[in-house]
Amino acid sequence: MSISRFFRSSKCQASKSDLLKYNALRSKDKTRFCYAPFQQITFMPSGEMYACYYNLRNKLGQYPHDSISDAWNGKTIKEIRKCLDKHDFGNGCEECLAQLKLGNYYSVAAWHYDYIKPEHETDMPTAFQFQLSNACNYECIMCSGELSTSIRSNREHAPLYGRPYDDKFVEQLRPYIPHLQNTSFTGGETFLNPLYYKIWDIIAEENPQCIISVSTNGSILDERIKSYLEKLKFNITISINAVDNDIYKSVHVGGNMENVLNNYLYFKEYCKKANTQLMIKICPLRQNIYHIPNLMQYFNLHDTCIAFNKVMYPPHCSLWNLPSAELGKIINFLKQNRKTAETEIEKLNLARYDTLINQLTKWHQRRIEHETLKLSEKSCDELIKIFENNLKEYFSNLNISSTDAKTEIQENNEKIRQTATLMNDDRIFKDALIYLIELPMSFLVPQLKSRSAEMLRSRFEYSFKYCKQTNL
Ligand code: SF4
Repeated sequence: MSISRFFRSSKCQASKSDLLKYNALRSKDKTRFCYAPFQQITFMPSGEMYACYYNLRNKLGQYPHDSISDAWNGKTIKEIRKCLDKHDFGNGCEECLAQLKLGNYYSVAAWHYDYIKPEHETDMPTAFQFQLSNACNYECIMCSGELSTSIRSNREHAPLYGRPYDDKFVEQLRPYIPHLQNTSFTGGETFLNPLYYKIWDIIAEENPQCIISVSTNGSILDERIKSYLEKLKFNITISINAVDNDIYKSVHVGGNMENVLNNYLYFKEYCKKANTQLMIKICPLRQNIYHIPNLMQYFNLHDTCIAFNKVMYPPHCSLWNLPSAELGKIINFLKQNRKTAETEIEKLNLARYDTLINQLTKWHQRRIEHETLKLSEKSCDELIKIFENNLKEYFSNLNISSTDAKTEIQENNEKIRQTATLMNDDRIFKDALIYLIELPMSFLVPQLKSRSAEMLRSRFEYSFKYCKQTNL
């Protein structure tokens, strides 16, 4: 079986039984598989506008060249809507389909957009997702300079990425704000972005009932933030990957666990009083995986919901690319340390824990298959050929014309070749190629599409140099 065939079906359609099982988990109206392209726009740091964080193959527009109205009413978003109405995932939604088929229902990105379903659909967006800047005070090991200015300066030693958002963008948002029911803000560190406070000021004036969901590393909580919390309705998600100080410091480089846990208690009280949601987001990593049962236990005791991110990058932190023997050991450990649940929150957390085990089990099966391919024994040229063939096979199966497929394949191949030229180190490039070949195409293709060769170079160099230095 070829690698890409493993991750995709012959048609980009979900089966009835997969949909039934998935829908059984969903609490809201299930009229649509995904509400994202019908209700919202995602604004990314370089000005790109997308239907969601995952469909990165189809850019709706680029600020400031395109307006929000251009993106919302354009041909691209209409095509995505049309396809999804037919349960056709071949227009950039392949990763959602892949997770659905794997039975990783909590990892189906569309599930994360169920909460934006409005009472009545109108012709205005009811939700916006903002990721307008990468200003961040942390240098977490699983992050990159794309999401942290501190990493960009101190680890990648490279000029900061330009960010196009400005006061004019904030003003462009004004007519949409009265219609919004949900907004989400992330970074970088969300509370470091001055534009967000300006947007919250307009929300306070025009639509104070609008829910503001913020993702934060939990490190900043000053009087100004507290005053915004008091006047608006904030859901808070905090990224905490350990409650053991040594692990915390090794993962959240530059962070202070005690400070974050104190702030967490403040946010917890706030959410309880404001009747909003608090969530702890955990990245299961090589560095904290054996700590996960303790971490869950800690938040169970504090009656707080947790959720797990699916970490595919960087390779020295992610679990999916571990040798199968190591993955097997981790799965056994997590099963042996699976606690029973009594409260509602414990049950929810346990369901997420089980989904994590399910995900690891799927990755374990895949690793066993990959290991028979002995990719590390192949030359760079052979690996490039395998990669190109996988791309061809992947695109031939999507719901796009053969001309578009050809262009996409050419663009991806070209980007990989440019990255190789920029890296100028065959050993690292070879590791990077193996990593790319082993990633599920449905995950990889949108990531390649949304990154320049320079961004790929920065990512690969950090990861694979680090792996070599530490013998990972
Ligand atoms: S990728 Fe998933 S979440 Fe995004 S629009 Fe498609 S189905 Fe919805």
